[in-house]
Amino acid sequence: MNPAFSRYVGKLTPRTPESGGGDRERIPAQRGAYVRLETGDQLTLIDPVGEQVSDLYLVDVEDVEDHFSAGRTTDYGNTIYPSTGTILYSSTSRRLAAVTRDTVGVHDMTLTPCSQDTFDILYPHLGGAAHPSCHANLVAALAPVGVDARHIGTTLNVFMNVWTDPEGELHIDPPPTVAGDLFTIRALRPIHVGITACSAEGSNNGHCTPIDYLIERSDAPAPRPAG
Ligand SMILES: [Zn+2]
Repeated sequence: MNPAFSRYVGKLTPRTPESGGGDRERIPAQRGAYVRLETGDQLTLIDPVGEQVSDLYLVDVEDVEDHFSAGRTTDYGNTIYPSTGTILYSSTSRRLAAVTRDTVGVHDMTLTPCSQDTFDILYPHLGGAAHPSCHANLVAALAPVGVDARHIGTTLNVFMNVWTDPEGELHIDPPPTVAGDLFTIRALRPIHVGITACSAEGSNNGHCTPIDYLIERSDAPAPRPAG
């Protein structure tokens, strides 16, 4: 059992039927998307079906060679399990974003995004057939803003259920999400963001489904009081 399940008991954002409501965009199964966030903007990832991973990658707008670092985020946060309050750092220790809402508490920062190589190496029964992948979708999302494919490293794998047993063997269990589960970050500086609906059947309990996202702009006018 992934220790992340017990780490945040009582501290998670409560699940509600309307959680993450608003003007959602949908990333179809096995596809990706690009968004740009300014300082203070919030991005919420929502699993609309359940049991679906979303890979998230952040790049500094002012320096596109500086990107999310799972290693520094783990080091400074002193945990491999990000959740509300976790600061997401870059390779040069810039504070890119903070996690502000999380209904799940089970996310991964150890694995790279699935790629064609992943499928070729780990799933030889596929015979090298072309397969959609998070890496290809992140490259497609971030190349237009100048991000080199070789600079897309370890992602924040939202809702991914990865854990290591006492012998050091890695386990990838189905995501524990149900429809409406969400994960929100707030940008701490302008960032380019690549998001995927993960393409690897094996990480999503055998079925790849969409991911929804919602952006709350920090400069959006406040809703007018009723009446
Ligand atoms: Zn993937």
